[in-house]
Amino acid sequence: MKSLADLVFDNRFARLGDAFSTHVLPEPIAEPRLVVASASAMALLDLDPSEADTEVFAEIFAGHKLWSDAEPRAMVYSGHQFGVYNPRLGDGRGLLLGEVVNDAGEHWDLHLKGAGQTPWSRMGDGRAVLRSSIREFLASEYLHALGIPTSRALCVTGSSTPVWRETQESAAMVLRLAQSHVRFGHFEYFYYTNQHELLKTLGEHVLACHFPECLKDETPWAAMFREVVERNAALIAQWQAYGFCHGVMNSDNMSILGITFDYGPYAFLDDFDARHICNHSDDSGRYSFSNQVPIAHWNLAALAQALTPFVAVEQLRETLALFLPLYQAHHLDLMRRRLGLSTAEEGDDELVERLLQLMQGGAVDYSLFFRHLGDQAPEQALRQLREDFVDLAGFDQWSDDYVERASREGGPQDERQARMHAVNPLYVLRNYLAQQAIEAAEKGDYAPVRELHAVLSRPFEEQPGMQRYTERPPEWGKHLEISCSS
Ligand code: AMP
Ligand code: MG
Repeated sequence: MKSLADLVFDNRFARLGDAFSTHVLPEPIAEPRLVVASASAMALLDLDPSEADTEVFAEIFAGHKLWSDAEPRAMVYSGHQFGVYNPRLGDGRGLLLGEVVNDAGEHWDLHLKGAGQTPWSRMGDGRAVLRSSIREFLASEYLHALGIPTSRALCVTGSSTPVWRETQESAAMVLRLAQSHVRFGHFEYFYYTNQHELLKTLGEHVLACHFPECLKDETPWAAMFREVVERNAALIAQWQAYGFCHGVMNSDNMSILGITFDYGPYAFLDDFDARHICNHSDDSGRYSFSNQVPIAHWNLAALAQALTPFVAVEQLRETLALFLPLYQAHHLDLMRRRLGLSTAEEGDDELVERLLQLMQGGAVDYSLFFRHLGDQAPEQALRQLREDFVDLAGFDQWSDDYVERASREGGPQDERQARMHAVNPLYVLRNYLAQQAIEAAEKGDYAPVRELHAVLSRPFEEQPGMQRYTERPPEWGKHLEISCSS
């Protein structure tokens, strides 16, 4: 186990030079304090968890101190925001502090979000508020605990520095970890500015650092694109299977690694609603829950366009066409498991589809439905779940079909329960739970956010004394509007 002073840096992205990023020092926030830290994220850097309790920890991650080997950089990128190309975005309030190499030889980007203004801040203040920093922290660590690929969050630091949004709030920083911070928008920036030599440098960097196996292919760039398509198909299937709504799937928020990235006004579904829009500013519902599938495809097409100098258009088209069937196969596989079906039979896709249609318009909690379906034998479980559905005749027909299908799985109920509980979380990151923890943190009480983080880090395991986190949300908690300002 290491202390902060022992971290080893190897800043590969910074070495690409000034065309890719600009040297900027973090602007500290006042009276730094640790709000919450993730021991499992610290372990990625081999950090001793007790390091989080030191004064220097909060100071570093609030911008007051820096390792001499760190090279803080603001990256440049562009991207499609709500379908419209924005030629210049970039790190307006976050800095890549450097890349840490852990004992296993992995490189982890340390990205400090809320670190002050950069050349890409446009009209922004370069800051992040406490509320959105806590939200990013909780979601990063929760998705990871669910087994969904994501950037990680090491810690949140709070401060007394005032920040103006709709009202006065306080500035915070979140330290994000990812193996790369390269977004689809990085490729778009060099493509649309006609800097194809630099685009080549970027692609070669990403291939060498993150897709080395593609270098063995006859056409490494095409192989890389295929890998990105495959990873996104798997990722989006997990989002849909677990009810995660990202909220701002702009191409600058899409990671080249196929991980969940750049959390904003996200939400986990409470009652199932395929049309749910979690982003208050998304008037047209472009990023609604069910649209995430076609939008991921759309974003991959935007990336493909930026790769046209290096990959034949026909090949890009063929690879793009793989997205939907791959997504469907992954999604069906995940939904089968959530339903306790460990074998595959023809007609399972229809069983899943019918269930989702029956859930629509009812008051069916999307997470707890699957959890409770595993609590008891199918008939008994369904009898209790029935009352939340609207189309009862349809539900009864579905129940009969499911019971028959489940009976062909065989095995005792306790095995079925163990199998289902291992994939169906009991604890869910609900908006209202995050909101309650945030309100306490805003008053200086960090115990609730720490407890929520601890509970959510083991979402499948029943934890004594944590009953209140397993309950269905109160009616007010289902309709919270999450402000897009952050
Ligand atoms: P986001 O909505 O967080 O994905 O950010 C979109 C773009 O706006 C990125 O280029 C951000 O760096 C930039 N941005 C967001 N908020 C701020 C802020 N408060 N100050 C400066 N830039 C910002
Ligand atoms: Mg972003």
